[in-house]
This record gives sequence, C-alpha cells and structure tokens, in this order.
Amino acid sequence: MKKILTVIFSVLILCLSSSSVLAETVVFNWKTLKYHKPSCQWAQKCTVNCTKVDKKEAIKHGGKPCKVCGG
Ligand SMILES: [Zn+2]
Repeated sequence: MKKILTVIFSVLILCLSSSSVLAETVVFNWKTLKYHKPSCQWAQKCTVNCTKVDKKEAIKHGGKPCKVCGG
C-alpha cells in the first residue's frame, strides 16, 4: 500500500514540475507594456525597462505582444 502511495505521489510531482516548465517566460517592457520572446532582438536591446516575467503576468499587467516576435 505504501508503495502505491509513493508511486502516485511521484507522478503528481512529475506533473506539477512539467506544467511549470510549460509556463512561458517573456521579456516584459514596463514602459511600453509590450512583451517579447527572450530570443527577440528587441528583448535583447531592452535592458533598462524590461524584466523577465511569466507571460500570464505580463498580460495581467496590460501587456501586448510584440509585433516583431509575436510575444
Ligand atoms: Zn519582440
């Protein structure tokens, strides 16, 4: 019985950790309220007003996707 519980528990942990990997990180410009993919040229140029945040977080703060990279 204990063994089954351990298996269920480890599967749960695995699901939780893989879902956090799926959460997209974007580079959010707090001044223009645009978010970029980290690979975007504008994200790399933006060093003063930008921070890496969760995409959901950026949208929550009124963020709009960049026209170049699509967010
Ligand atoms: Zn961009």
